[in-house]
Amino acid sequence: MIEYVSTRNPSIRVSSSKAILDGQAESGGLYVPADLDLIKADYHDIIKGNFKSMAKAVWNIFFDDYGEELIDELVERSYKNKFSCDKITPVVKAQSSKSEAYVLELYHGPTSAFKDVALSALPNLMSAARSMNDFTDDIMILTATSGDTGSAAIQGFSDVPGTGIIVFYPYGGVSDTQKLQMVTPASPNVTACAIRGNFDDAQTGVKRLFREIPKPVKGVSLSSANSINIGRLVPQVVYYFSAYAQLLEAGVIADGDKVDFVVPTGNFGDIMAGWFALKMGLPIGRLICASNKNDVLTEFLLTGHYDRKRDFYKTTSPSMDILVSSNLERLLWYICGPEHTVEYMKQLEKEGEYQITDDELSEIQKVFTGVFSDDAEGAAAIRDVFESDKYLMDTHTSIAWACMEKYIAGSDAAASVVLSTASPYKFSAAVLEALGEELTGSDEGNMNKCHEITGAEIPSGLAGIFKKPIIHNDVIEISDMKAYVIEKSNARD
Ligand SMILES: *Cc1c(COP(=O)(O)O)cnc(C)c1O
Repeated sequence: MIEYVSTRNPSIRVSSSKAILDGQAESGGLYVPADLDLIKADYHDIIKGNFKSMAKAVWNIFFDDYGEELIDELVERSYKNKFSCDKITPVVKAQSSKSEAYVLELYHGPTSAFKDVALSALPNLMSAARSMNDFTDDIMILTATSGDTGSAAIQGFSDVPGTGIIVFYPYGGVSDTQKLQMVTPASPNVTACAIRGNFDDAQTGVKRLFREIPKPVKGVSLSSANSINIGRLVPQVVYYFSAYAQLLEAGVIADGDKVDFVVPTGNFGDIMAGWFALKMGLPIGRLICASNKNDVLTEFLLTGHYDRKRDFYKTTSPSMDILVSSNLERLLWYICGPEHTVEYMKQLEKEGEYQITDDELSEIQKVFTGVFSDDAEGAAAIRDVFESDKYLMDTHTSIAWACMEKYIAGSDAAASVVLSTASPYKFSAAVLEALGEELTGSDEGNMNKCHEITGAEIPSGLAGIFKKPIIHNDVIEISDMKAYVIEKSNARD
C-alpha cells in the first residue's frame, strides 16, 4: 500500500484516504507518496480508453486503499454530467504568427476554470474517506476566496453527502461574474458569504477559525479544500495522460515521443501534477513553469534562490498572483530530502527566503524551466493567436503561450502543450482590451461583446448566470465570522 508521509515529519505516515481526510499534515507539512517506485506504471496501460478510464487507472495507483470498485463509482460520480465536453479535457491545435502549439483545455467544467477538474473529485473522495476511517462527523469546508476557487468548491461540494461548505469572499472585491457564480447555487449544503474586508482578512479569519473552533458544534468538523490536499493534486495528473493519448491518436506524435508541457502557475499544484505524471513514466520532456510579473518561481528555477520579499503585482491573470507557492514544498522534499526541506521552509517563514544547493538546483533544472511574461506580452499573445487562428485564449493561458514562445526554440520535444486554465469568457474585460476593443461597462455586456466578436460559444454555466436568482445575500463583519460558522453548522440537516 502507498504510504503518504508529511514533508515536515517523517514519522507521520498515513493511507491515502486518511491523507485526504486530514488535508494538511500536522505541523504544517504536506502529504506526499513516500516511495515513488510504487507509482511507476506502464503508461500504455493508462492511456487506453477515455478520460474516465484514465482517471480510474491513475486514482487506483495513488488511492489504493479505496479499492477498485469504489474508485470506479467515485470517478463516475465526479465527472458525470458535469463537463460540457465528452473528452473532459480536449486538446486543440492553435497558432500565432510565430508558432504553433497544442492547447489542453481544462475549463469545460461547471465554473469554466481548471479547478473544476480537481474540485469535482475531492468532495467525493473526502466523503468516502469518512466512512473508511470511521469518521462520523460531518465535514464543514471553510474557504476564503479571491474569486475562482470559491465557485469551483461550491460546485464540487454541492449535494455531496456528509459535507457542507461556507465560502467567504471580500465584499466588493470580486468581479460580478465571480460573485454570481458563488451566490446563485441553490444546494442546501452550500453557502457563500461576503465579509467586510479584503481577501487577506478573509484568509486570516478562516485560518483563525480552524484553530479556535475545529469542531464548531457537536458532530461537525472543519476542513479545507485548498490545493495542498493530495485529493486535489492526483485528479490533475490524469489530464497529462489524456493530452498524451490525444496527441498520439491524432498522429501528432509517435509512441514514446517526448512532449513538453507549459503550465500557467500560481500555487505550483498543476505543474506538480505533471511531475508526478513524469515520475509514473509518461514521456514528458520538460515542464515549463510559466509565471506572470510575479516571477518568484522564474528566479528560483534559474538561481535556486526563493525570495518572497518582493513587490506584489496585481495582474490581469489574478489566479497566478502568488508569492508563496505552497506545492513547491512537495518537489523540494523529493529533490532536497526531508531535512533540507524543513530547513528551507523555516527560513522562508522567518527570513522570507532560502537558497537550495547547486546540486539540488541542477537536479530540478533537468526537468523544469521557469519563464515569465507580463500583462502586455500576454495581451499581445491573445491578439496574435486570435488574428492568426480565430482561437481565443484567456489571460492565464496567454501568459503560458507567451512563455512558450520565448522558450520553444530550445526545445527538442515532439510537441508542446500549453495548459489552458480558464475560459476566455471568465475574463471578458481583459480579453476585450487585449483585442483592442472598447469595454461595455458591465461583465454581462463584455461577455456578450466577446461572443459577438469571436463567435465562440459562451459556456452555458456562464451564459445563464446573470438571470439566476441570488440565494446568498449575507454580508458580515470579520468579527462575526465565528458566530456565522457556528450558526450554519447548527442549521445543517
Ligand atoms: C488556480 C489557477 C492557476 C494556477 O494553478 P496552480 O495549481 O495554483 O499553479 C492558473 N490559472 C487559473 C485560471 C487558475 O484558476
